Amino acid sequence: MPIYQYVCEECGVPFEHFAHFSHNGHLPQCPRGHTRVRKVYQAPAVIFKGSGWYSTDHRPKPSSEEK
Ligand SMILES: [Zn+2]
Repeated sequence: MPIYQYVCEECGVPFEHFAHFSHNGHLPQCPRGHTRVRKVYQAPAVIFKGSGWYSTDHRPKPSSEEK
């Protein structure tokens, strides 16, 4: 089973999860329990270097939490 890498959009913690998030319709949680995570395809260190790493993401930052 492949391991997918994710990074938490709440705290920026990179982590790995064994299943794709769409497998059961639920996003994996970051080690700190957040569910607002994004899948990454390369080393997480590349993703969030600098302070405005999510400014390259065209989605607006969601203001409400999905439960
Ligand atoms: Zn987190």
